[in-house]
Amino acid sequence: MEKILIVGAGFMGSGIAQVSAQAGYRVHLMDIQGSITDRALKDIRWSVEKLAAKDILKEPSQKVLARISPEKDLSSASEVDWVIEAALEAEELKREIFQELDSISRPETPLATNTSSIPVTRLAENTRRPERVLGLHFFGPVPLMGLVEVVKGEKTSPEIFERGAAFVESLGKTPVRVQRDIPGFVMNRIFSAALREAVDLVDQGIATPEDVDVGMRLGYGWNVGPFEIADNAGLDTCARVGQAMRSLGAGHLAPSSNLMERMVADGRLGRKAGKGFYRYSPEGKRLPWKNKDNQ
Ligand code: NAD
Repeated sequence: MEKILIVGAGFMGSGIAQVSAQAGYRVHLMDIQGSITDRALKDIRWSVEKLAAKDILKEPSQKVLARISPEKDLSSASEVDWVIEAALEAEELKREIFQELDSISRPETPLATNTSSIPVTRLAENTRRPERVLGLHFFGPVPLMGLVEVVKGEKTSPEIFERGAAFVESLGKTPVRVQRDIPGFVMNRIFSAALREAVDLVDQGIATPEDVDVGMRLGYGWNVGPFEIADNAGLDTCARVGQAMRSLGAGHLAPSSNLMERMVADGRLGRKAGKGFYRYSPEGKRLPWKNKDNQ
């Protein structure tokens, strides 16, 4: 059974751990905060049991859950076949993690990052195996979203790039290959351009978030609007992506307004905090839009 280490057990790390365990991999799930790993295991249990109740799992939920073990540090990197980094969107932090992973893991182990914006090449610079570093950019919520961008860094070998795509397929997801490493890759550049405009329009009072979302659903056939996507992703993560885009020379893809930064400072982090562009019940259900409450 192949083994995977996932670094970061937040929204994305826990989802990647779940789909990997469901696909039969042995998963080590690590976070610097033990409470976050505990919460991730609880969320995964809830989600896997829901799938089992709907008869979607191929085996008893206990078997899937038994494949995931929580970790407090990176030491299990030495015994795994894949590493996927899904820690906070901060370049310095990720560079340090990659350096440590490079020193602990076997030289042949591929090191993947789930970054939304930072070129893979910049993270690979801190390792002695840049040809084995690649991007595996999942979309959230990972158990529901079928896409993973496979990103080729400047030095990623063609063999590792293709192994990345095959790994994505083994999880039941569809790989989209990004042949050149640029900030935000492909999908996030396109989404960021839409979100930038949406945020700026709302901050100027031209439309409400709900009206923008309704418009994109009914007018352009999106399944969910940009503000629904941002709330699900976490406004702290969206704001960090905007900052990274600005610092990486792709500022035209970040909002001109600092609306999301102001919301984050106010504790409005999105669905996970019960409030963002929308408000949510303690069970995570979206509450009816009331302009006064939400602005
Ligand atoms: P999150 O805030 O939910 O989780 C990040 C986790 O990283 C936190 O639990 C934090 O404790 C942990 N962490 C911080 N420093 C660490 C360290 N040194 N070692 C291990 N863990 C550490 O964020 P997220 O939404 O899960 O995003 C994670 C990554 O995935 C980011 O790079 C983000 O850009 C990317 N991403 C996010 C989305 C999304 O929809 N949120 C989509 C695609 C990619």
